[in-house]
Amino acid sequence: MNILTFDIEEWFHIKFDNNFLEDEMSLSNYESRLNQNMEFIFDALDSSGKKGTFFCLGWVARKYPKIIKKIDSLGHEIGSHSNNHKLLFKLNREELREDIKISKNSIEDLIGKKIDIYRAPSFSLGEKNSWMIEELIDFEIKYDCSIFPATRENGGFPSFVSPSPCLIKTKNNCEIKEFPINFYNLFGKNIIFSGGGYFRIFPYFMIKKMMKESSYVMTYFHPRDFDPDQPVLKDISLIRYIKSYIGLKSSKNKLVKLLNDFKFECVSEASNIIDWKNVPIQYI
Ligand SMILES: [Zn+2]
Repeated sequence: MNILTFDIEEWFHIKFDNNFLEDEMSLSNYESRLNQNMEFIFDALDSSGKKGTFFCLGWVARKYPKIIKKIDSLGHEIGSHSNNHKLLFKLNREELREDIKISKNSIEDLIGKKIDIYRAPSFSLGEKNSWMIEELIDFEIKYDCSIFPATRENGGFPSFVSPSPCLIKTKNNCEIKEFPINFYNLFGKNIIFSGGGYFRIFPYFMIKKMMKESSYVMTYFHPRDFDPDQPVLKDISLIRYIKSYIGLKSSKNKLVKLLNDFKFECVSEASNIIDWKNVPIQYI
């Protein structure tokens, strides 16, 4: 099972990964690259006949409603990727509730459909803030794709029960269906390869081999992953530079090859295939 997902945000939303000083207004000072990058993604999916799940920011829904409507009208699935990409572990319970509410409302008002799929910005839902799952359930989120089951700069959940679909159960006996990021065991090391900087850095023949040998793959791409002409942010760490700007010249070709070489499902289609009675359970 290969799940195709995209996180719909501007190239500059990664600024929130390192500092928390920008407000929503100041973001409009940056050059917009989203429309042109989305056109590439739409074309690539159209030519290969693939449908995916698009996790969209509430910010994008308000600023670029046409993009959200186009994703919907082309038959793709839409989930929430938070309101404006603030790292979740920096929010308290009230701030989180407000963030989920604004994001969901912004998208739902546009497309007239309930949003019940969610991915945290920068996978910032981990061991320390796993209680946030309760709030997602309270907002009628049924499927979560926020768990990165390894150590990560912004969060990560290294003790997570499984790098494959599972149920997360809360103390109140509520549950959510979880689709975590998968990894591949390469020479005894667990390697992430299915999205973002990892997808751009590995050569395609390796990605193809790892995909073929994996029974479950959760991809995660961003419009900026396919934009070699995007501006480079100043004052970022070397690791962030490598993660954000390496491999941009060859990534368009890689995505096109991937879409042609493999079958993909969106999140709800994948959920219909899974036998949820026989998956691992993570208690929080
Ligand atoms: Zn994101």
